Amino acid sequence: MQGLNKSPWGHGFADIIDRWNWDETTDQIMSTTEDDVRRVLSKARLNTRRLEPEDFMVLISPAGAGFIEEMAQLSRHFTRERFGNTISMYIPMYVSNACSNACVYCGFNHANKFERTVLTMEQVDAECRAIKELAPFDNLLIVSGEFPSLCGTEYFENVLNVCRQYFNNLTIEVQPLKTEQYIRLVKAGLNGVVCFQETYRRETYKNYHPRGMKSVYDWRLNGYDRMGAAGVHKIGMGVLIGLEDWRTDMTMLARHLRYLQKKYWRTRYSVNFPRMCPSESGFNPNVVMSDRELAQLTFAFRIFDHDADISFSTRESELFRNNMLSLGVTSMSAGSRTEPGGYALNQGALEQFEVTDGRTPVQVADDIRANGYDVVWKDWDSVFD
Ligand code: SF4
Repeated sequence: MQGLNKSPWGHGFADIIDRWNWDETTDQIMSTTEDDVRRVLSKARLNTRRLEPEDFMVLISPAGAGFIEEMAQLSRHFTRERFGNTISMYIPMYVSNACSNACVYCGFNHANKFERTVLTMEQVDAECRAIKELAPFDNLLIVSGEFPSLCGTEYFENVLNVCRQYFNNLTIEVQPLKTEQYIRLVKAGLNGVVCFQETYRRETYKNYHPRGMKSVYDWRLNGYDRMGAAGVHKIGMGVLIGLEDWRTDMTMLARHLRYLQKKYWRTRYSVNFPRMCPSESGFNPNVVMSDRELAQLTFAFRIFDHDADISFSTRESELFRNNMLSLGVTSMSAGSRTEPGGYALNQGALEQFEVTDGRTPVQVADDIRANGYDVVWKDWDSVFD
């Protein structure tokens, strides 16, 4: 345990994360024994107490890999119990690839010279209509690079106002905002915010994020507290797998989730485990996670938390997504384009990363149904607001 860090970037989880030492956490995970795994699985089966992050560490350890079949069964059981046989569908809409940050792994990096695109409201409207022609999506994820002077609160308010006419559930994945800015967007119809911390490892965070506001670790990490304080209905969390040891990063995320759940208990949470995809940046991942490891992580997370929405995007392959859909996953994207204007405008703007699962939304939905699951296009209504 280290001392308490008082952040100049507001208050929140950044004040307490340094209680947990990164290397000690890694050592603890790697020293897990098979008996530890059996003990945690017994506790999970009893289902009388919620698991703690220390239990989650055991399940994602190398020793836990030997119990993957048991973990898959438990994960399937808890997912069915809480979510039924359903997969909720969403689609991302990129509104801008302008960015003032310089994440070393991203094609939208400020240093990457290409013509930037920021959609006008007419173009946003055209994108909405093109998405609606693909399939009856009702959950929209609005994504942009981080360039507040071009895409700030007012811009997102306008985007939400346009999208609200077509979709009931609106989530943004944009730069972290101030509490009062989130409140403004909630009033404009915002339901959820997705933000990836990318890595919880404070010592190396700035190596990957050397420039702009994203280089300020505490500002980003405390962003989740600002979302909670603003009353955002659903908060999406994740680390980018490929930067640091994924087991340690995911343990930090599990600690973060429990902290948020205690403090903002009315909020719903989702998690995503994005594995790094090739991009214009040419960055090679430091860590490669196998399909089996991603499956183990997914099962472990579901056993750890029965309520969190676990989302798989088109970063993952058709085969892998089909294999996982009954085993813990609860939402999927389909038909995704990762460039602004990708659905209606075909301007050839730079995409953020290459999509791996290129099936149409209808094909994805057919495959989900063929596996005995119901496809849910709409799981939220504005009447709940
Ligand atoms: S990951 Fe996001 S913040 Fe970083 S360069 Fe890409 S678009 Fe910008």
